[in-house]
Amino acid sequence: MLNIVIFGAPGSGKGTQSDKLIEKYRLFHISTGDVLRDNIKRGTELGAIAKDYIDKGQLIPDDLMVSILADVLDANREQARVGVIFDGFPRTIAQAQALDAMLAERGTGVTAVVGLEVPEEELVQRILLRGKLSGRADDNLETVKNRLDVYHNQTAPLRDYYQKQGLYRAIEGLGAIDDIFGRICAVVDALD
Ligand code: AMP
Repeated sequence: MLNIVIFGAPGSGKGTQSDKLIEKYRLFHISTGDVLRDNIKRGTELGAIAKDYIDKGQLIPDDLMVSILADVLDANREQARVGVIFDGFPRTIAQAQALDAMLAERGTGVTAVVGLEVPEEELVQRILLRGKLSGRADDNLETVKNRLDVYHNQTAPLRDYYQKQGLYRAIEGLGAIDDIFGRICAVVDALD
């Protein structure tokens, strides 16, 4: 199984590159942000809880997020058998530990963590542009700063967590989408 965590700050291109990866490698894509936004759209109880956090640029509590991820994995056992792209999860050390445990229970583990590295000024510009183009509610100037702070405080330490396990692969996340994708493919093709 090829289980890839696509890792990076908001606006680093995780969603864009995940779409290309699933097409090329036929992996199952789990974007926790998409799962939450879908719940908001459908007006579920989970969606109502998630909306408050997302609008403030805060993280959904770990326990809730971990149980959501376990449900998605269980509901898609067949498709997930080839491998999974984890996009937007884990975002905290606690989530990373829970992911390790969840995958171990299923007889597998994280194969590699692809870290998209993009300078801060570029992130802000990309997020604001995405907000204009897609109308994504949390892509606005007020929320961006908070999301980047949350990233630095809670998510960036995962780089070290995975580096210590020899799983982290840094990717230069600047340039043309296809060039960045080429760098990622070179890493993925060299796995196993
Ligand atoms: P994303 O689409 O990955 O940028 O996620 C959008 C928002 O959803 C984030 O700013 C968080 O509020 C929430 N979210 C998504 N994934 C997670 C996660 N793994 N843990 C906590 N909150 C999350």
